Amino acid sequence: MAENSLSRLAAEFKNFLAAQDEDEFIATAAAAPAAVSVASVQPTSQEPAQTAVPPMPEGETLTVEFPRARAREQAAAPAPMQAPAAETFSPQQEPVLMNTAQKTAALTELADTIKNCSRCPLGATRINAVPGEGNVDADLMFIGEGPGFDEDRQGRPFVGRAGQLLDKMIAAMGLKREQVFIANIAKCHPMTDPLHPEKHGNDRAPNAGEIACCRKYLEQQIAIICPQYIVALGGVSAKALISDAKSLGALRGRFYDLSLDSVKLPRPVKILATFHPAALLRNPGWKKDAWLDLQMVMAELGLKGASK
Ligand code: URA
Repeated sequence: MAENSLSRLAAEFKNFLAAQDEDEFIATAAAAPAAVSVASVQPTSQEPAQTAVPPMPEGETLTVEFPRARAREQAAAPAPMQAPAAETFSPQQEPVLMNTAQKTAALTELADTIKNCSRCPLGATRINAVPGEGNVDADLMFIGEGPGFDEDRQGRPFVGRAGQLLDKMIAAMGLKREQVFIANIAKCHPMTDPLHPEKHGNDRAPNAGEIACCRKYLEQQIAIICPQYIVALGGVSAKALISDAKSLGALRGRFYDLSLDSVKLPRPVKILATFHPAALLRNPGWKKDAWLDLQMVMAELGLKGASK
């Protein structure tokens, strides 16, 4: 009799603690900027109702979970990111250079993951994710900062005005767009006013949290394609891939050995920074410096027209 009452009391206490935790967790998640899914912490229909106290079987120990502590940890994280799915981002222990079919399959699977990604708030406001496109066996990869208005609508990188200039830069190198691979640091359109995605001139650079969310996608793409050279277009791309601190001006003019955080490269990749085509549209006087940068890459790749 006394034992039964004790069991009921313990179960009631357990329900009370759980209810406190869930309430506070939901309040924390709603208040936090993070995209924490409140639905994921709603009590399920299988959970006992607050008033129905099931008798506790003899010998059962009282264990209480503390989702509030988990919520606090999530709220303290620098960006509203979810843990990457293990199967998508399992680090390669022994990096292997893939053949064309393997690269195509791996990049297609990755693109599907990117199109379904909601790891940061940009996933909720994009029209289309823009994983990137081009020759999976490219020796040269161009990496911009993030999709703009036109890219968001078409789901393809560099298809607006900046893209038209990039096409001309690629052609000036003696290459076709289809021969290179073009991607971005951020895969979804960062907007200054996400409530009005129909507006033009609504582009902004991706912030640190958004860059961190997309980083492993880009690193996977680079490791799969494994180009010989990467051209980082603009300061956002250059800083993310070469250095956190230096300005584009300080980073230009030399090649760097690329080093990735989440994957090992099957062979060394060199990276060079130059001006973003959108910056060249605003400052045509910088085009000659950009051309000098591209000629450095052309010389490495043995392309005609490179200054010796
Ligand atoms: N600017 C970028 O950085 N990337 C694009 O895809 C388009 C414009």
